[in-house]
Amino acid sequence: MAPIKVSKILCIGAGYVGGPTCAVIALKCPHITVTIVDLNKARIDAWNSPDFKLPIYEPGLEDVVRACRGRNLFFSTDVEKGIREAELIFVSVNTPTKKSGVGAGFAADLNYVELATRQIAAVATSSKIVVEKSTVPCRTAESMRTILEANSKPGCHFDILSNPEFLAEGTAISDLFNPDRVLIGSLQTPEGKDACAALAGVYANWVSPAQILTVGLWSSELSKLAANAMLAQRISSVNALSAICEATGANIDEVANAVGYDSRVGPKFLKASVGFGGSCFQKDILNLVYLSESLHLPEVAAYWRQVVEMNEYQKRRFSKRVVDTLFNTITGKRIAVLGFAFKADTGDTRESAAITLIRDFQSERALVNVYDPQVVEEQIWLDLTEASPNVPLDSIKKQVKICGSALEACRDAEAVVIATEWKEFKEIDWSEVYKHMKKPAFVFDGRLLVDAAKLTEIGFKVNTIGRPGA
Ligand code: NAD
Repeated sequence: MAPIKVSKILCIGAGYVGGPTCAVIALKCPHITVTIVDLNKARIDAWNSPDFKLPIYEPGLEDVVRACRGRNLFFSTDVEKGIREAELIFVSVNTPTKKSGVGAGFAADLNYVELATRQIAAVATSSKIVVEKSTVPCRTAESMRTILEANSKPGCHFDILSNPEFLAEGTAISDLFNPDRVLIGSLQTPEGKDACAALAGVYANWVSPAQILTVGLWSSELSKLAANAMLAQRISSVNALSAICEATGANIDEVANAVGYDSRVGPKFLKASVGFGGSCFQKDILNLVYLSESLHLPEVAAYWRQVVEMNEYQKRRFSKRVVDTLFNTITGKRIAVLGFAFKADTGDTRESAAITLIRDFQSERALVNVYDPQVVEEQIWLDLTEASPNVPLDSIKKQVKICGSALEACRDAEAVVIATEWKEFKEIDWSEVYKHMKKPAFVFDGRLLVDAAKLTEIGFKVNTIGRPGA
């Protein structure tokens, strides 16, 4: 049978993954028409905005969208039309942790995946390849297939593939241009293999064959959870060591560097910090914990749960260090929090350590000044309200002020807390900041970003993760 040629792709979900991933496919495959749909009209309007004020900030993304929007890349809210016309459909919807019901706090909420799947079945009038792009628990493709087969029209056949996304926010475009690997999972049937070859053919427009891994469906689904769990585990391991460093006088940078020199360990992802954030690490590990429990593997569940607990401990430890250092009370004291995004080069705040730190400072009745170069004000208020559901927004606004620059945030502050590793915080004029702060002026570097020796020379009392405090 001739390989299936894909000429029309639909992506359901125009978020951090669906948007950049499918925009890059459109750029690299000018012969393919790519439509990205979303139920969220505001998001689609932003993707279509005449001045390219895109709904997410990602270095290089605007150039990609400028190159192909209106040519072979389209953004729309018309999900049904998109489904009818496409040959291959990515499902790239959100899969958050369930908030209530069975498995609350651990299991993935697959409601959005199910709704999108039901919509495909209800609308499709021809056969489709359906691709799980969302991160899902192992064997979700089986549930999708059951839904599609039970609801499809006569003559419609659906092949399901798993194609998890490994991009990292902040470097999404370069990750998509030069992926470490593209993983495609399929059933090992002739139809499954043909569908897999069709999707591999799309990526082959810019990814070398050696980097396109084709595996079984369940291996592909599990690999995504495993990859995130192991990355987060490295961070929790180095953070656990950072606590020992602080207590002993060892330096976590030196320890991590020495450990990373071992080629079996490698140097990447060994930076101590106030803790990992983002929409994926915690959720995917909890997903793995839930999966392990469901499979009656309690020891496996306990093992992975500890990675998340260590992360929570690291954030708590950092807040406590700020309070302890500021003479055991921060009531009425002004603290500047630099950074609100969960990491640099993104405007995404999901599970950001800054949210936990500010909530802790609020509960100690401190006054908090926040500055982030990319996160919009409304998002900060939304996150802080969600973090303290019993505190009215008016009260939060009495304690927290959003500032337009790092210098403004630091004015009259007793301490600066670096929560996000934005390059601009490394480059600010720290002597100028020092002049405008109360004395003694403290810096708590939650990202090992600034030159502690230089700041100490200026007069700051510097506290860094993984080193004894000043
Ligand atoms: P997101 O919340 O930014 O985007 C998901 C979008 O899907 C939302 O805009 C939502 O409105 C839309 N949507 C939901 N149901 C829909 C429906 N039935 N029809 C049309 N639109 C619908 O989420 P994201 O960060 O892009 O993540 C998507 C998936 O990719 C998740 O499973 C996530 O775990 C995974 N993932 C995320 C990242 C990351 O860095 N953000 C990386 C790899 C994988």
